Amino acid sequence: MRVTQLLIPTSKETPNDATLASHIYLIRAGFIQGVGSGLYNFLPLGKRVLDKVSAVVKEELDGAGCQEVSLGFVTPASYWVESGRFEKYGKELLRFKDRKNNDFVLGPTHEEMMVNVVRQSVKSYKALPLNLYQINLKFRDEIRPRFGLMRGREFLMKDGYSFHSSVEDMNREFSLMEETYKRIFSRLGLEFRVVEADSGAIGGSGSKEFMVLADSGEDTIVVCDDCEYAANIEAAVRADKTCEVEPPEAIYAKFRTPNTTSIEALSDFFKVDPYYLIKTVAKRALYDEGKSEIILFAIRGSESLQEVKACNAVSANELIDVSEEELEKVGLIAGYMGPTKAPEGIQVVFDLMLRDATHLICGANEKEYHLIGIDLKGYQGRYKDIIAVQEGDLCRHCGALLRYSKGIEVGHIFQLGTQYSKPLKAEFLDENGKSKPFEMGTYGIGVSRLLAAIIEQHHDDKGCIWTKESAPFAVTLIVSNIKNEAQMSFAEEIYTTLQAKGIEVLLDDRKERYGFKMKDFELIGIPLAVVIGKNLAEGSVELIKRDGLEKSMISTDKIIEEVMDRV
Ligand code: ATP
Ligand code: MG
Repeated sequence: MRVTQLLIPTSKETPNDATLASHIYLIRAGFIQGVGSGLYNFLPLGKRVLDKVSAVVKEELDGAGCQEVSLGFVTPASYWVESGRFEKYGKELLRFKDRKNNDFVLGPTHEEMMVNVVRQSVKSYKALPLNLYQINLKFRDEIRPRFGLMRGREFLMKDGYSFHSSVEDMNREFSLMEETYKRIFSRLGLEFRVVEADSGAIGGSGSKEFMVLADSGEDTIVVCDDCEYAANIEAAVRADKTCEVEPPEAIYAKFRTPNTTSIEALSDFFKVDPYYLIKTVAKRALYDEGKSEIILFAIRGSESLQEVKACNAVSANELIDVSEEELEKVGLIAGYMGPTKAPEGIQVVFDLMLRDATHLICGANEKEYHLIGIDLKGYQGRYKDIIAVQEGDLCRHCGALLRYSKGIEVGHIFQLGTQYSKPLKAEFLDENGKSKPFEMGTYGIGVSRLLAAIIEQHHDDKGCIWTKESAPFAVTLIVSNIKNEAQMSFAEEIYTTLQAKGIEVLLDDRKERYGFKMKDFELIGIPLAVVIGKNLAEGSVELIKRDGLEKSMISTDKIIEEVMDRV
């Protein structure tokens, strides 16, 4: 294609709200255009990249036996009522009514819709397994849309759903999808990690995320220095932790402790390592139908609460902070809360580290008092893993150091079991003629987010550096002076030759200065440029690799061969 025929509105202006390289460059290089908070148009270059990325996704999925479909984006709410998510899903779910007052949602994900497809058309185990996917728009009314394509409200997702007659077969498909996803992200030239993810209230290890490693990532992942272990902080575990400092010997007693509302103050007061203090955190857990309750989470003072783990521990939809006034109403005093003498009716969840723990100090649930000599040996309570793994903790698998890294979640695979098939009554007849709900898996890829992730990992201070399989064009031809007939006609010649060889080539035939065109090349990030300039008279042209901007002179009779080699 010729640049003169394309809409590529490049600009020097950094958009006001943009802080990430991908957001800035995708807009400045004319790939996308903002239309509202979290809403973007894809311009010709952006659409080309989107199609490239989608094609890689499609090729690999089709190769793994998946089938592409396309489901409606506007979804009758009735399916969501059946699954219970119409109530449960927060404000991210955009609900609206049509002129006849019927409820609808804009699909943020399509479990219900796909289950509906299959329950209507599959009756026997003979038609299983099935893996159906689509690459389609999603809408989530995100509370904080930001970072351009990274966290949009409308975005392109590949969402796949598999249906099986047994758990074993679902597990097999889960592994197949893990391998398939790895191939997709490798082909796209990304450095990524497969991490264990939070599986929500279901628990278990049936959920993995694919994280593109980038400092700008919104997710914290815990990685082991030595072995393969990697997990989202929301699901990370570690080797048991102990404390080298001697425990404080004390007989059980109530102790006056004024001005000790923080762990630091309490630790100073008693000259005790925070490991031996109990930090009691109050949260309001939100449940279906507007129900909520205040719950106490007790952890060692040396640790911090991991809210997603805590939320799962009580099967809540969400945890929110509680004000001092709200605490007072139920008999709790901020700074002096403790898990052992909690007011009647207040639930307590203990961290696993506190099971059978001794020599502890905790709040007395009385202003300015703490309890010392707390011994939880044999104490009957609810114990769950609710703490955040910290950097420097040790790997449960190999004992090496764990550290934090930042990642961009580009994919998520999940073993669902019968979570949706049961409430939606999606059943098949097994070999013995017995009716059973489908065992399901669900698999997502953030296709539009991938554009941002690729640029976050591949850019420099001049602009984008697309990877081979994601680039909008393989090579661009820059004519230094279009008024020079020899330059122009040589450019036309190699343009035609490369096109005939099936290479996607862009010809920058604009009547602009060379420097201007170079700046655009650097900003747009096509992997390779051929500059046809003054040296043509001596029989050579310049080849520039966008990654590193490394230049070499190539003789005109070798240029086609050289380009073919590089792409
Ligand atoms: P996140 O934790 O980033 O909000 P999620 O866990 O809600 O994502 P999933 O429901 O697993 O996301 O969706 C599948 C994939 O869709 C994600 O792995 C991510 O790549 C992509 N995705 C999710 N939300 C957005 C968004 N607001 N904008 C762009 N892509 C998104
Ligand atoms: Mg996810």
